[in-house]
Amino acid sequence: MHDLGYIVYYGDDERLKDDVVLQPEWLTKAIGFVLEDRTTQEMDGILPDNRLQEVWWEYPADGKTRYPSALYPFFLQLMEKYDVSYRLEDGTASLVAQHVPQVRPNLPWLPEEEPANNHRRLATVCVMEESPPGLIPWMIVRTHDYIYQQHQTDGKTHRLHWQKGMFLRNRRHGEAMLELRDRELHLYTEAVWPVYFTNLLKQTLQKLIAETWPGLKGRYQFTVPCPTKQQGKACMGRFEIEALRQFLEEGDDTIRCQKCRTRQNIIELLYGFEEEDTREQLSRIETKVERVEIKVEQGAAKIQQNLQELESRIANYVMVIMQAVASESKNGPRLFTIEPMSGNWRRFMSKTYRLHLWCEAPNCQHPIHEAGKGVYEFEAPREWVEQIAPYANLIARVLKTLAPIAAPAANAFFGEEFIKESNIKYQLETMKELTNTLLSNDKLLIDEPARLGDSLLSQGERSGILALHSFLREEDPHHEILGLKRHPTYTGDYLWLCETHYQQAQSKIPQF
Ligand SMILES: [Zn+2]
Ligand SMILES: [Zn+2]
Repeated sequence: MHDLGYIVYYGDDERLKDDVVLQPEWLTKAIGFVLEDRTTQEMDGILPDNRLQEVWWEYPADGKTRYPSALYPFFLQLMEKYDVSYRLEDGTASLVAQHVPQVRPNLPWLPEEEPANNHRRLATVCVMEESPPGLIPWMIVRTHDYIYQQHQTDGKTHRLHWQKGMFLRNRRHGEAMLELRDRELHLYTEAVWPVYFTNLLKQTLQKLIAETWPGLKGRYQFTVPCPTKQQGKACMGRFEIEALRQFLEEGDDTIRCQKCRTRQNIIELLYGFEEEDTREQLSRIETKVERVEIKVEQGAAKIQQNLQELESRIANYVMVIMQAVASESKNGPRLFTIEPMSGNWRRFMSKTYRLHLWCEAPNCQHPIHEAGKGVYEFEAPREWVEQIAPYANLIARVLKTLAPIAAPAANAFFGEEFIKESNIKYQLETMKELTNTLLSNDKLLIDEPARLGDSLLSQGERSGILALHSFLREEDPHHEILGLKRHPTYTGDYLWLCETHYQQAQSKIPQF
């Protein structure tokens, strides 16, 4: 009935699942009052909780519908769900994105300027056949985790968004400026290695378009703007990313711009947008981790920059792998370690295993530490372990890559010594042993190059994660031990988070 529009009901949302709206118009009207509110507009979109009574009870007088305060927490949650507003960090107000200022504020940098030292800038233009109404406000809500806040001398905080765009900062991974210019959404990112933030924002935009304006499917494309400047003006030439990739594959090195006729280097245009084979990327990152560790010992001055680039590369790599497994993320967590309870993998008699689940908090992945949660000790037949091995192998490599960055972050988040790195190292070594022992088996190696359609996962890896999830379903059908909660993301994925990270990811909704 929800899908047909007769009622409003979100059964898969922890915080909304207890309420059903029988008359959608009643709800639409309530949200309409917020969108029509002049004071919110005058306050650049800020709607403090102490004004809700005014908007929903006092303003709609004269026989119109009034809404009592008991409903406000529910309404505030729904407005987030509909991308109408987001909650400010301090939990005292909402920001209604349709009411942000008209004028672009002063920004830390503009795309026309040279990027800061040691930083690179990537330009992407999303060319649309039509610019869907509300694109920018929706995008503001969906990127609000990264909204840039400027603290002014007058004590006020300015958020850098306006009717046509937004300026964002992703703490360790750079900054971005998005602006709608006619039917083009311009996206500029700046960082030591800006590819990750670009990919993250592109995916956020793709998901938003797919969900909100399905009619735009196939009627927009990502392009690289021509870098030529003539008399200080940027050339209006656009190169389709897909076409550039094809030309490159067919052996072309350069392409001429149709507008300014200048010859451009395809690799340079594509630099950063080329989707390398993820496995190749993985082995490169693995060697790089070791190389950076050596450099740290030498104490070179470039370490900081190298580390930043490495961090963004790892974040990007993890995002790509996790998305390869994304279609399974709805059904269960993706990260774990497994070890035999006694002896080693080779001992065929050892049939008891310990499986430890991991929290998927971005850049802070860690084993579940809550007492009695996330750890399963169980007996399993050899075939089961063989089935899970290819996926365990992939995840062991992911965790090994992540560990140098995620472990210190988790220690900082939960307090010193939370993760005993030696312990993780041991667990990962054990996982490697598992795969070394089992993957030498011919049967499993055959699966390796096979690709299922667009999927990055091999058939063996996919059946491995399916085996993991069916194990969890049988062993723990009511999630009593799981210790993880499912959290949807704006890039179209689900993250399985520990209680602490899950609570942190929830916006603060007041009680009335
Ligand atoms: Zn040009
Ligand atoms: Zn966590």
